[in-house]
Amino acid sequence: MAKTFQQLTQILDELRVAERSIGLVPTMGALHAGHLSLVERSRVVADTTIVSIFVNPTQFAPTEDLAKYPRPLERDLEQLQKAGVSVAFVPEVAEIYPDDCTTSIVAPRVAQQLEGEYRPSHFGGVCTVVLKLLHLIPAEVAFFGEKDFQQLAVIRQMAKDLNLVTRIEGCPIIRESDGLAMSSRNVYLSTAEREIAASLNQTLSFVEGQINQGETDGHILMAEMRQRLIDAGVSDIDYAVLAQPSNLEIVDEVTEDCVALIACHVGQTRLLDNRVIQVD
Ligand code: AMP
Repeated sequence: MAKTFQQLTQILDELRVAERSIGLVPTMGALHAGHLSLVERSRVVADTTIVSIFVNPTQFAPTEDLAKYPRPLERDLEQLQKAGVSVAFVPEVAEIYPDDCTTSIVAPRVAQQLEGEYRPSHFGGVCTVVLKLLHLIPAEVAFFGEKDFQQLAVIRQMAKDLNLVTRIEGCPIIRESDGLAMSSRNVYLSTAEREIAASLNQTLSFVEGQINQGETDGHILMAEMRQRLIDAGVSDIDYAVLAQPSNLEIVDEVTEDCVALIACHVGQTRLLDNRVIQVD
């Protein structure tokens, strides 16, 4: 495990000597099978897989769960070792953001809607930390989950806009047996909330079914999504929308492939899910 840039650089120097390609999997830890699927993919694509574990403070608003975010480091490191990860990079906050660090990234336009409306500073923080990691780690490929669909779109656009050499690869959503998308935040859910949380995936399946059966009115479909979530007991819906996968603009009429995206609260826990829906 590397905790400092110096330790990381030393390891990277050794890897460079061996001319090995690097796959980077950035995470905030509290690892689950979703994270490990990214690791697995990296192990196929790259010679060396580096996983970063960093609960990035700049992507949390002051009202959010930074302090209580789960940090089971020992368990994470065991999982990474079992998964065959060569290097875990686990920096302290001061290593990434020393006191005199005042430069940050303005996230691309695709960051502005949906998550951007509810978490205005979030993607700026995500872009800044990902760019710092990519500067430190000369990865050929970096892996991100489609679970965070907008984040993937934001990172792809940043990589394009800033001419990054690292290829950005998206990986499919890994789910629990009842369909709930795996998330480090699922541990916050009580048993009753856990049942309600399954309605996100059920709602995505429902809207996909409606589209497959020929419903094309985006506003009818979005109203139905919202109603399903309310009926299931979801307390607070930030958005339940159909959008264009490329730019996340809302879809009024479904004529081509689209993505259904949900962000809502189940109790105190904010959950995200999405499904890309193919249209014949
Ligand atoms: P996080 O630790 O939540 O920041 O997630 C780190 C990476 O793992 C991000 O690229 C996420 O999109 C991805 N990820 C999180 N949950 C899942 C999941 N259920 N399936 C696939 N990827 C995921």
